[in-house]
Amino acid sequence: MPARRLDGKVLAAAMRSEIAVSIAARVAVGKRPPGLAVVLVGDNPASHAYVRNKQKACAEVGVVSTLHHLPVDTSEAELLSLLASMNADPTLHGILVQLPLPPQIREEQVIEAVGPLKDVDCFHPENVGRLVTGNPRYLPCTPYGVIQLLRRNDIELAGKDVVVVGRSNIVGKPLALMLMQKPTSSNPAGCDATVTVAHTRTPDLGGVCRRADVLIAAAGKAGLITAEMVKPGAVVVDVGTNPGPGGKLVGDVAAGVENVASALSPVPGGVGPMTITLLLANTARAAELIDG
Ligand code: NAD
Repeated sequence: MPARRLDGKVLAAAMRSEIAVSIAARVAVGKRPPGLAVVLVGDNPASHAYVRNKQKACAEVGVVSTLHHLPVDTSEAELLSLLASMNADPTLHGILVQLPLPPQIREEQVIEAVGPLKDVDCFHPENVGRLVTGNPRYLPCTPYGVIQLLRRNDIELAGKDVVVVGRSNIVGKPLALMLMQKPTSSNPAGCDATVTVAHTRTPDLGGVCRRADVLIAAAGKAGLITAEMVKPGAVVVDVGTNPGPGGKLVGDVAAGVENVASALSPVPGGVGPMTITLLLANTARAAELIDG
């Protein structure tokens, strides 16, 4: 039997309606709508597409988004000065700097220049530290999107063997942390799973992946995960977004996995819409934290 489809598009639409209702309720009592500033430096076509999707989603739920499109030769000092003014702007609750940045701008400097309360991506070291210690302020968008996609499809994670392929600061590392943590009232993202993180230096990747009850592919390598690497009946989440033939987007999971897995998230239409939805949720939360 082919794998059940973990449809992020349908789920994201339902979650966005909930967010829209909560924002409308704030506005109805005279509070400011959540404001998100999106900063894009240069002309990376993939970044343009991501930013367009984020802005469209903001408009759908009542988040006021403003795009700051800066030229590719923007200096680090210019970007830091823009971020300082955004930190001080009371109409802005979230600031998102689209990565990657051109080489003359140091990513760490920029991440640390976004005020922690406005860091809706959850990249600032203060927010990462809170996540590590189990007291998060924000939950990082793609990792929590993966967890929500699993939970809202009634996939049990407690006590399960979960393998995460990829150890980046944006996806693999925070996702592994959340999966292994104990769920508490201050840390709703905890999953109580037994987690293995695989990466480029993992010998026998296939053997490691085959142990997984839940396998999460976040390597950014088209077709890396083949049917032979998946335990029959495992749940597979494909985070990868890679350029495929004819400009199509393809994941890290190869064709054929759908015949072995019990459930599989598609690309596109799986984790991507969840990521954007969690960004909206974090921006709405930022408005509550900042304005009350
Ligand atoms: P990254 O390049 O920063 O990290 C990739 C990780 O995968 C590294 O830790 C590396 O060790 C590991 N890896 C790479 N090749 C491997 C291999 N052959 N075997 C084992 N491990 C390998 O990328 P990232 O930012 O973590 O993103 C990963 C993928 O997820 C990309 O395709 C990216 O476009 C996608 N992504 C999707 C969303 C979404 O919303 N759908 C969001 C963020 C990232």
